[in-house]
Amino acid sequence: MTVPDPARRRFLAQSAALAAGLAAREVSAGGPAPGAPEEVRPELEPGLTETSASPHALVRSVGLGDVRWTEGFWADRFTTCCESMVPNLETVMGGTEPSQFYHNLKIAAGEAEGRHRGPAWNDGDFYKWLEAASAVFAVTNDAALDRRIDEVIRVIARAQRADGYLHTPVLIRNRAGDRGAEPFQDRLNFETYNLGHLITAACVHHRATGKRSLLDAAIKAAEFLAEAARTRSLQLARNAVCPSHYMAVVELYRTTRDPKHLALARTLFDLRDLVTDGSDDNQDRIPFRKQRTAAGHAVRANYLYAGAADLVAETGDRTLLDPLHAIWEDLVSRKLSITGACGALYDGASPDGVKDQKSITRVHQAYGRAYQLPQSAAHNETCAAVGSVLWNWRMLTLTGEARFAELMELTLLNAVLAGISVDGTRFFYVNTLRQLDTMPAEFRWSRTREPFISCFCCPPNVVRTVAEVGSYAYGRSPGAVWVHLYGGSVLDTELAPGSKLRLRQTTDYPWDGRIALAVERTPAHPWTLRLRIPGWSVSASLRLNGKPWPAPLEPGTYAEIHRTWSMGDVVELTLPMRPRLMQAHPLVEEARQQVAVQRGPLVYCLESNDLPQGVRVSDVVLPRDFALESRVESGRLGDVTVLEGRAEARVEPAWSNALYREVPSTDPRPIDLRLIPYYTWGNRGRSEMTVWMPFGG
Ligand SMILES: [Zn+2]
Repeated sequence: MTVPDPARRRFLAQSAALAAGLAAREVSAGGPAPGAPEEVRPELEPGLTETSASPHALVRSVGLGDVRWTEGFWADRFTTCCESMVPNLETVMGGTEPSQFYHNLKIAAGEAEGRHRGPAWNDGDFYKWLEAASAVFAVTNDAALDRRIDEVIRVIARAQRADGYLHTPVLIRNRAGDRGAEPFQDRLNFETYNLGHLITAACVHHRATGKRSLLDAAIKAAEFLAEAARTRSLQLARNAVCPSHYMAVVELYRTTRDPKHLALARTLFDLRDLVTDGSDDNQDRIPFRKQRTAAGHAVRANYLYAGAADLVAETGDRTLLDPLHAIWEDLVSRKLSITGACGALYDGASPDGVKDQKSITRVHQAYGRAYQLPQSAAHNETCAAVGSVLWNWRMLTLTGEARFAELMELTLLNAVLAGISVDGTRFFYVNTLRQLDTMPAEFRWSRTREPFISCFCCPPNVVRTVAEVGSYAYGRSPGAVWVHLYGGSVLDTELAPGSKLRLRQTTDYPWDGRIALAVERTPAHPWTLRLRIPGWSVSASLRLNGKPWPAPLEPGTYAEIHRTWSMGDVVELTLPMRPRLMQAHPLVEEARQQVAVQRGPLVYCLESNDLPQGVRVSDVVLPRDFALESRVESGRLGDVTVLEGRAEARVEPAWSNALYREVPSTDPRPIDLRLIPYYTWGNRGRSEMTVWMPFGG
């Protein structure tokens, strides 16, 4: 936990006073709904999603600076985040080539000359960097970073219009004398997306620093949205594209405790139903409360679902919660990549295959129909994976159910981390499951890692997520600490005001399944430690101070240890890390007779760099008696565990232009196979790669 500076201490005291006032109002209004969990008192250090006073949140965030990675996987990623990812993005987004982000804000503020350049959503993507930098500061207290953040915020505040509107494409045209440029003229201007990310960044910055500078801009932005909701509601509803603003405005309510912001979040959400000519491209073809399947543009969908879950945490609205559960079931049982990636299609149609063809519209970057999960042609935008993490985190917050934490972890380790290179400077917009040298089509997005992407939404989205993973690792509820993610770390938190607790987690997870948790500080009263037992760990074991834990451990739940703890108590959890051959449901036609390999929460892949000369990725077949050994390795991919075994290569004669031919006779040749974690592929130059491999030769 960071030591609060005086400004931060003042803020914490103010927050406590505000929250106490709110709690008093709730009591006078009859208190939380029946069955709602007991309140955590609000003087606690505020978390990434500040749910400590949310009446329908079962598991709450720990404080933003409460978790410090110490060693191993996430510590390495966090170090790369501080030393490479955040500074690299600062350079890329601070310049004028190949696009403009911060510079657009400087022009809008009157501090630079020029015209707006880049997509309309560049503002929002720049605010994601600001959020990442603030989250890093919450842990590192890096004074130089703090000063650079302050300067950026000064420019943002100058660029903002007096009524709270802040959207540089319009403001720069206004500044150049163009009175015709106004808010909400084009639904693809992404104004609500930009304002949403501004507000979210402000909440994180405020919690990290105690400063109000960006929060004041966020409050003004919310006032602009509130005025727009009153005076041009349909326009606002139609323009709510890629809706980051539902999450944002709820978070602003949690930060300020001003009920008008919660009312605004509800209004903004309900306004969606005014749209009568919408499409699944923005999930407004049918009202949200009637939706039961994951459909449409996957990033926008996941942001919408996350925003709905935030509203449920504050309101308990079951008409929002029921669709969320149904959509989640549809996602995990029919539409999810094995890596956790979402949105398998470059382009889809909606409603797909209906009789009335005139009612079908094109949907881009989309969820496909059930079981439609292409491999070479998979889209799987990195932002969709980030959106899934945001959504699953909120579902976990609402329910305390391990399945949401498990999908969050799978997505973080595979789909999200794949989006950024090991050195933290090159990016994927799309995340294919198979890359062969001869591809059947020209794809819109690069399939090699790039330092810049014309749509730069994913890079800062990954970086803010890596900066904030510590906040997803633990949770707290009255009388309990939850361990959602494993990694070498120290948790320094409070269960209740003054009830301090410190846990040290020592592990080399996800490479190794042995996890030790040492109690270094504990309140005198008993409390419960909840440890997530992953669904894949069928023979996990637990020891307390060296003695086997008597209760069975059920995969896919949280194991509970309730006791009066002492300093020096040690809990040891061992999760089996055997490689597992995975198959897909038979209706996933593109994966028929193929297997993928998982070890613990990591998905593995075959990359051509690891194949013998003359053997291509598409030649490799895994025999039915296939076995894998794990080996620890350090090199260009970082410290990783690779998997090795014997497979077969069936090198086929070259294809002519024929589409079909009689099967040629080829002699299988034994080869040494080496599989690497999927998230590390594409870090050794141009390559072929596949996650799914033919099985059963
Ligand atoms: Zn993106």
